[in-house]
Amino acid sequence: MNYTSLWQKIYGDLTKTLPDHAMNTWFEPIKPIALADNEIVLEVPNQFFYEWIESHYKAQLINAVVASISDGGRYRFIVSAEKSELSTDTSSPKNETAKGQKPKNKINLNKNYTFELFIEGSNNQFAKTASEKVAEELGNSSFNPLIIYGGVGLGKTHLLHAIGNKVLKNNPMSNIVLATSEKFTLDFVNSLRVNKSIEFAKRYRRADVLLIDDIQFFRGKEQTQEQFFHTFNELYQSGKQIVMTADRFPGEMGGLQDRLLSRFQSGLSVDIQPPDFEIRVAILMEKSEQNGVNLPYDVIEFIATHIKSNVRDLEGTIIRILARSSLLNQEIDFNLVREVVKERVGGVISSDVTIEDVVRRVSEISKVSEREIVGKSRKMEIAEARQLSMYLCRDIIGTSLSNIGVYFGGRDHTTVIHAVKTIDKKRTKDERIEKTINSLKQELSLSIASI
Ligand code: ADP
Ligand code: MG
Repeated sequence: MNYTSLWQKIYGDLTKTLPDHAMNTWFEPIKPIALADNEIVLEVPNQFFYEWIESHYKAQLINAVVASISDGGRYRFIVSAEKSELSTDTSSPKNETAKGQKPKNKINLNKNYTFELFIEGSNNQFAKTASEKVAEELGNSSFNPLIIYGGVGLGKTHLLHAIGNKVLKNNPMSNIVLATSEKFTLDFVNSLRVNKSIEFAKRYRRADVLLIDDIQFFRGKEQTQEQFFHTFNELYQSGKQIVMTADRFPGEMGGLQDRLLSRFQSGLSVDIQPPDFEIRVAILMEKSEQNGVNLPYDVIEFIATHIKSNVRDLEGTIIRILARSSLLNQEIDFNLVREVVKERVGGVISSDVTIEDVVRRVSEISKVSEREIVGKSRKMEIAEARQLSMYLCRDIIGTSLSNIGVYFGGRDHTTVIHAVKTIDKKRTKDERIEKTINSLKQELSLSIASI
């Protein structure tokens, strides 16, 4: 029997003893990858997965394996990430010995930060496209230097590494130099101390691609900027690509020398914006899949409604959900997710305010009856009260789009999205609406805190 059909048999056995949700969440993603000496090798998406299965379903798994493989069947787990690291490790040295060269620098590229794993949305599309172009056309692109800027946790470092990974893939011998601005500073300072400035210059000025992360930390460091200026010029003049990231538009960054800023302006600066609701949903779906958890759509929407700041926080929330479910030995359900989200946003979400509460308060304030709010009329003041109610349901309670749609006169989720966007826009223009929303939010949130 080969390992695929063997696994099918084991899987079938497990289905008889374990509930569907356990099968779907923990066993479905497992891939059998080998069978040797009665040992079946199973690939799991991550370490966490493997620990979870070992602590929860070990006995059932052993039984099923023993029953399916005669003569002392065993199993062994292997984590996906380890596998891919192994395979790159074994292939690259061969490549290099063939050409009789050693790798020029040890590069600390994060292998997981690739273009393939970067989720694209309107907030980051331009930055991603420009980065890909730079990686493909190396120095020949008109985007030199390329500067990617934006707030924390939005994927700047990810793109920077993705460029490095892509360049390396296209040409394993290229000399990629990656450093944070702090590392650059440290290297520079050390080179002064031990009189190794030549080595320093070599390391940085021999780059085919120079990737510098977080240049805002160059601020106020005159000497380092001086060094960087020379490094920059030398590379730039020999047509080498330079990519940098920053926490804001370079032109608005105080503490950088004008001559550096004017160099930067000869290239392209692209920004990454915070992800909007739809993009947050997409990110959560993708990231939970990558982590091997199956989160129901409602749960995903709930997280996307409350965790708004950045991708790192979205990722962190998923990890936290996994950790909590592991620590407390609980299946991942809505309650668990709500607890985690509540912790992360500092307790200001509600489980206790209902759609009815929202509609009642909006009705009192707007003088539109509750019945009209959930009805079909398109009269302006009624439609506005309805949109406001929909908006608050999403914002305060985190009700899913489709549930809101159903509640408010059987509309579909696109109508709800439209309502939310309309109110978002009105909030910035119409002070009356802004005030109403804030006071309703405060009032309804207070009622949560007091329960
Ligand atoms: P920044 O450097 O802007 O502070 P990072 O690049 O470190 O942010 O991103 C924080 C985390 O979020 C990383 O784990 C990164 O992989 C992930 N991330 C950010 N943006 C995306 C995206 N668009 N798609 C997938 N993962 C992303
Ligand atoms: Mg970063």
